[in-house]
Amino acid sequence: MAATLLDGAAIAHQVYAQLKERIRNLHARGVQPGLAAILIGENSASQIYLKNKSQACRDIGVHSEILRFAADCGESQIFTTLQNLNADPRIHGILVQLPLPSQLNSERILQAIAPVKDVDGFNWVNLGAMVAGRTLLAPCTPLGVMTMLDYARVPIEGRSAVVIGRSAIVGKPLALMLIARGATVSVCSSKTPDLRQYTGMADILAVAVGNPGLVDGSMIKPGAVVIDVGINRLPGGKLVGDVDFASASRVASKITPVPGGVGRMTVAMLLENTVTAAERSVGLG
Ligand code: NAP
Repeated sequence: MAATLLDGAAIAHQVYAQLKERIRNLHARGVQPGLAAILIGENSASQIYLKNKSQACRDIGVHSEILRFAADCGESQIFTTLQNLNADPRIHGILVQLPLPSQLNSERILQAIAPVKDVDGFNWVNLGAMVAGRTLLAPCTPLGVMTMLDYARVPIEGRSAVVIGRSAIVGKPLALMLIARGATVSVCSSKTPDLRQYTGMADILAVAVGNPGLVDGSMIKPGAVVIDVGINRLPGGKLVGDVDFASASRVASKITPVPGGVGRMTVAMLLENTVTAAERSVGLG
């Protein structure tokens, strides 16, 4: 039987409907949520991502601005801009679009964003809070995955979850979020000798690697919920995930498509974090 599609666009639409209500409440208090994005250089994928984020902001009534810098700009210029944004009461969320040109230290730059405005959730304060079982502003992609699971009413507590990928911005925080919800979690990486041994026992399987076709239907437990975080552009230009969708969707009970799955949720969560930050700035939430 074919798996049910976890439609990121449809779920994001429901998230936006709720956000619009929260934004109306903020407007009534004279607050318009504001998001500032820093774009350094001419990376075409980054420009497309930011265009989508700006459009989503416009659609729901969040002020957004993009601050552009030349690819050869210095770190001090970025630090000064971040200090100004950190102090700007019109701006509730700040993001630095990655990747950065090689002369810039992205870790240092991300740590210069005030944690209360760190709507990508990459600051160590926000990542560390998750280890302590507290969520301040959580990284958008794993938060989007959890939101999808909740909208689809996927039980998490007591289930076996496997996360493939252990990056600080996707795999690791997703594993922490699943642990916080009572799942029994295994985290796999490039060092895992036999992936199949883990994937085959997952009730919830999340794949965040960047390797097209890494997981196919033969590796999946029948009835599992499969979340494909990967985004890969094939030589012909087609966008695919890390999971072989055709074979996996014959075995899974629910599965996310690529495109149209987790990616849509990531943008929605960025806006949700911005609204949350704006609410907190006036003592709400
Ligand atoms: P990353 O920092 O490159 O991390 C990739 C992870 O995959 C690493 O932990 C790596 O293991 C692991 N890995 C690599 N090869 C593997 C293999 N053969 N078997 C098992 N694990 C393997 O990437 P990321 O930033 O987490 O992103 C992962 C993917 O998600 C990418 O395709 C990215 O484009 C996509 N993504 C999508 C969204 C979205 O909105 N949908 C958002 C962010 C990222 P080691 O740690 O051992 O090297």
